[in-house]
Amino acid sequence: MGRMNLFSIPLDVRALYDRFDAPVTSFDCGEKCRVHNPGGKPFCCDICHAIPVAYPQEWEYLRSCTDLWHDWRGDECPEDPTDPEVLHEETPDHLMLLACKGPQFCQREYRASSCRQFPFFPYVTSDYKFIGLAYEWAFESSCWVISHLDSVTQAYREEFVRTYDDLFCRIPNEFESYAGASEEMREHFAGLKRRIPILHRNGGTYLLSPASERLRKATPATFRKFGFYTKD
Ligand code: SF4
Ligand code: SF4
Repeated sequence: MGRMNLFSIPLDVRALYDRFDAPVTSFDCGEKCRVHNPGGKPFCCDICHAIPVAYPQEWEYLRSCTDLWHDWRGDECPEDPTDPEVLHEETPDHLMLLACKGPQFCQREYRASSCRQFPFFPYVTSDYKFIGLAYEWAFESSCWVISHLDSVTQAYREEFVRTYDDLFCRIPNEFESYAGASEEMREHFAGLKRRIPILHRNGGTYLLSPASERLRKATPATFRKFGFYTKD
């Protein structure tokens, strides 16, 4: 199957970006984390820590509007070059890997969808319901937001849910892919005997048992903090 065939309904990329534009927090959270990154970049904008992904339609749109992005090559992080073949194999067919020029050149209107969703992904239950936002646990020790989930604005949460409700209608593979990521998260947290924080689509915040998937209402300000942020 060709890549474009994976999209059952065409994607209007500009409309997608305009409706998914709210910042995660009401201030620049990059100021909180970049002081802990030796290169001074926010972790999610540092190609040595996170490689952005985009739908092929996004790439078509972005390359026609800006020179901010290029097709990821694997040599962008000199300290840790990656074999492109390995990572390309691990990347789902409906996504492609990109690299931007770096945070000093960022153009907010041309941020990719992966920049907008970070540090979250849509959590899908084992009975295939998209119930809200879960975080990318690999970034627990580096992303300030993950240690401060109470700082995530309701406006961001609402835009996130609306965006993925829409994308899941257009890109069935995307739903499958996040169902898989959610399952992986359940296994990981079950192994650690920890509950999964969920920013629920109903506006509340919960802790989810990875075994039973029972939800318990919770206060995010009391959630555990990680890495650099255990004390602040
Ligand atoms: S989302 Fe996390 S990693 Fe990205 S700038 Fe904000 S605190 Fe830093
Ligand atoms: S486009 Fe902007 S937000 Fe996205 S990774 Fe690059 S610097 Fe960060």
